[in-house]
Amino acid sequence: MSDHYEALGVSRNATTVEIKKSFRKLARELHPDMNPDPAAAERFKNITHAYDVLSNPESRSQYDRGGSGSGAFDAGFGFGDIFDTFFGGGGQRGPRSRQERGQDALIRIDLTLREAVFGLIKNVDIDTAVVCGTCQGSCCQPGTSMQTCDVCRGAGQVQRQVRSLLGNVMTSTPCTSCRGFGQIIPSPCIDCRGQGRVRASRTLELNIPAGVEDGLRLQLAGQGEIGFAGGPNGDIYIDIAVKPDDIFGRNGDDLTCVLEVPLHDAALGAQVQIDTFDGPVNVEVTPGVATGDVVTIKNKGSHKLRGNGRGDLRVSIQVNTPAKLDTKQKELLRQLAKLRKGEHPQLQKQAHGIFGKRR
Ligand SMILES: [Zn+2]
Ligand SMILES: [Zn+2]
Repeated sequence: MSDHYEALGVSRNATTVEIKKSFRKLARELHPDMNPDPAAAERFKNITHAYDVLSNPESRSQYDRGGSGSGAFDAGFGFGDIFDTFFGGGGQRGPRSRQERGQDALIRIDLTLREAVFGLIKNVDIDTAVVCGTCQGSCCQPGTSMQTCDVCRGAGQVQRQVRSLLGNVMTSTPCTSCRGFGQIIPSPCIDCRGQGRVRASRTLELNIPAGVEDGLRLQLAGQGEIGFAGGPNGDIYIDIAVKPDDIFGRNGDDLTCVLEVPLHDAALGAQVQIDTFDGPVNVEVTPGVATGDVVTIKNKGSHKLRGNGRGDLRVSIQVNTPAKLDTKQKELLRQLAKLRKGEHPQLQKQAHGIFGKRR
């Protein structure tokens, strides 16, 4: 087997970037699709293998120490089990899977309170990975397939003898030639560079249910990027952020608002029309209403995220005592005061909980 550095035409202290660059350049020349020469195909195999080993810092340093391949002892001693029992080693048997689960993605969605109350469908562009259309996730250039690693014979591990307290025992380590996969990719797919997936932008149609609240996290299982080598998709998480509304607040499934009522309406009663998310709604202000009194309008709150129905709209009354009065208004109030003489401000007996009651 030729030297991996020579095969790639780089020096022994080449950086990972240099190795990658050189591999790409050679791969373009030697790939069977580009170059029909059988010798080129053979060299392509060699450089791919060399790149596999040298592009991974771990397998590269093992290779530099002369560990690659040559340590393939004949399996069949069965000492590995003993070694594992005493030293709690690996336990991993057989080749590891090339497939990896895709990464999860987190998306933040900003909603108005109205959108949160009623729900909506929102299109979001996400940058993700999808299965490579050229190789269908197999990682191999079409027409080629994975080959059993000839160093570990597909086991993904090589056994070697080490000295220990028990004397010489066999231990198994991941095969550096195939990086433990048991199989090598002789001709990696060019479009995905042997990863089985490609980056892509995708439009996701999000169905945000009615009644979501600020800080809620929704999970879309299996909607994230696809994994390496056609591995399962990751999940998408959606963090809901609800912008505060100028008029309406929220308390669980109820919406809240404050209605400022002039003194005369508070005293005489009135019907006041207010604009809600559901359009105009009448609020019945009863005569003698006081600041802090709450008028409840049924079923005009938020939709319930779980279960059916809606919360209520709770209108908190704030009586507006006039600060500026013209002469005529002052005169009218003086007449009112005369009519109700005997009523003066006075302290009331403390009733427990009175401050908590009116809010
Ligand atoms: Zn591909
Ligand atoms: Zn191997």
